[in-house]
Amino acid sequence: MIPGGRLVVLGKQGAGKGTQCVRLSHHYVIPHISTGDMLRGETKAGSELGLEARQYMTDGKLIPDGVVLKMVAQRLDQDDTRTRGFVLDGFPRTVAQAEGLDDLLDPASLDLAINIVVPTPLVLRRLASRRVCEDCAAIYSTAAPPRVGWICDVCGGEVIHREDDTEAAIHKRLDLYEQETQPLIAWYRIARKLVSISGVGGPDAVSDRLVAAVDDHRSVGAFGVPLPSSRTVDESDAVDDEASHAWPVTAGPSERSPEELS
Ligand code: ADP
Ligand code: ZN
Repeated sequence: MIPGGRLVVLGKQGAGKGTQCVRLSHHYVIPHISTGDMLRGETKAGSELGLEARQYMTDGKLIPDGVVLKMVAQRLDQDDTRTRGFVLDGFPRTVAQAEGLDDLLDPASLDLAINIVVPTPLVLRRLASRRVCEDCAAIYSTAAPPRVGWICDVCGGEVIHREDDTEAAIHKRLDLYEQETQPLIAWYRIARKLVSISGVGGPDAVSDRLVAAVDDHRSVGAFGVPLPSSRTVDESDAVDDEASHAWPVTAGPSERSPEELS
């Protein structure tokens, strides 16, 4: 049987977390837990939590840590996550949430935090064209729409432009990412749980890198064993690379990486 795993996927808005977490979840047969999807589900259902969360989300603000932690604690307490583990998408987003997650998992611990690195100009382009299914959260874009109209290929739901994918809310979320979530990169690096991979390129190329990173770390020993530092990408290098545009940025829907083109 494929062993489970406890994974966190980090990356700014538009890095491709949602798409890649679904793929990881299928590949390793572990539940995909997206706090954004859970919160949108609550909002749609009109629950008390959904009503509380809605304004924060529309404004591009973070939901208070205590509220999100309670929601995640309930999800992590279910049988599937207890037996298989999880791939967490959009959580933790603050150091307080990361501390809360550690407490929830104790005496077990996280296996790996994967940081998907994509330069900001590219995420801005991706977010402007992103469209999502209201019902199952499948992700499309104006360049890669559903087959028929704006009807989801997967579930037949309506594919929409998210109400928080406005330019103002996107900038607010990216600023918040830098202030609140970026510190987690150092947090997980110090814990020797971090691996950074490039999120530039088509979805298949990126998921190949993700699976290779996870398998690589599994082969080093059982998950939970500290990772050798030579196997982690230094995040400060990646940030510098982004600033100098050293990451290959290609326009257009396919966003092909150089290795795919060669
Ligand atoms: P994005 O990554 O594009 O911001 P998500 O779907 O992950 O989209 O999240 C949408 C919104 O849900 C966030 O802007 C925030 O308001 C809320 N949210 C999701 N996850 C968290 C979290 N871990 N902590 C606080 N707020 C969250
Ligand atoms: Zn759908």
